[in-house]
Amino acid sequence: MSKLVNPHGSAVLKPLLLEGAALKAEQTRALSLAKINISSREAGDLIMMGIGGFTPLDGFMTRADWEGVCDGMKMASGLFWPIPITLSTDQLTADTIKEGDDIALFDPDRDEILATMTVTEKYTIDKPHECMQVYKTTDEKHPGVKMVLDQGDINLAGPVKVLSQGEFPTQYPDTYLTPAQTRELFKAKNWVKVAAFQTRNPMHRSHEYLAKIAVEICDGVLVHSLLGKLKPGDIPAEVRGEAIGTLIENYFVDNTVVQAGYPLDMRYAGPREALLHALFRQNYGCAFLIVGRDHAGVGDYYGPFDAHDIFDDIPKDALETQPLKIDWTFWCNKCEGMSSMKTCPHDASERLLLSGTKLRKMLSEGADVPDHFSRPEVLAILRKYYEGLSVEDNVEVKMSGHSAK
Ligand SMILES: [Zn+2]
Repeated sequence: MSKLVNPHGSAVLKPLLLEGAALKAEQTRALSLAKINISSREAGDLIMMGIGGFTPLDGFMTRADWEGVCDGMKMASGLFWPIPITLSTDQLTADTIKEGDDIALFDPDRDEILATMTVTEKYTIDKPHECMQVYKTTDEKHPGVKMVLDQGDINLAGPVKVLSQGEFPTQYPDTYLTPAQTRELFKAKNWVKVAAFQTRNPMHRSHEYLAKIAVEICDGVLVHSLLGKLKPGDIPAEVRGEAIGTLIENYFVDNTVVQAGYPLDMRYAGPREALLHALFRQNYGCAFLIVGRDHAGVGDYYGPFDAHDIFDDIPKDALETQPLKIDWTFWCNKCEGMSSMKTCPHDASERLLLSGTKLRKMLSEGADVPDHFSRPEVLAILRKYYEGLSVEDNVEVKMSGHSAK
């Protein structure tokens, strides 16, 4: 028996991706089904279901699930789940589909049928209600809220059969690992207590410090990068992967850290997304999730430690995976090292407080980066990336919310 944490709500992983002859047959059948277009977020959710990252979901949520998740973070079955995983379409398309129909889910970005689905329910939702419950705002400037408000007016529920993982296995052959693969990897390394470090940024000194705190108290750390869609101006996954690889090679002890990626888009739901991050890390075999300042936040929609506090508000048995809550970390001149609000007694003027956003702004403008913020090997990779950007691609980085402080 594995000593790793159990998958969420299940003794085994439940990947919904078909294989071999079953996959071939379903791919052929899919061509004869009515096709509906899916969004990038829905495609990421599907691939995640395909690889067992969203165990034990068997498809897109029903209205009862949606309501339970929005209002009490609980599906109709009673299973803990913090963010609705739903599929939507427009009224016109929905009118052509009956409950009980099988449909093909077509991803226009990839020009590919990603899955088939048996529609068990068509329903409408109160979108602003979902936004208030999950994102704590209905402000359209919030990228996650905008995704919900822009989605179709009719939700479709039902079990899915996943047919493809998109480009992830070929585009990221070294880092795209399924939950079954990370579990195998941990077993091979004899790791039982593994902490996941969630990132959508290259790792700078403060991230390195968070990961090293976890290395001190765990068997190993999984640096787990988001490979799906980000906001404009964020650093692409390939560049980020290279920067993180260099950092691991030069600044960590062998066999204490591994890097991997997962296929979701960011929702920027702050505290609720931190819970989702912990939930699917449990499926990847991680007993801990490192939760720093403003986890999965955007702008100033969330308090810097809301994502810590929310773990105290859920039932004790909701998740096996637990947060490793770490305070705001930084370089301090007086401490002569990395430190945190909890350990450094010095004045703010002694501390180097730079957000990832502020760094991106400096790099995109070709400015010098202060010492001790990031390792030179990491900065060299980022500088090369920014120098290669065309003027149009070099999105102006706007400072707002916590990042401006
Ligand atoms: Zn200090």
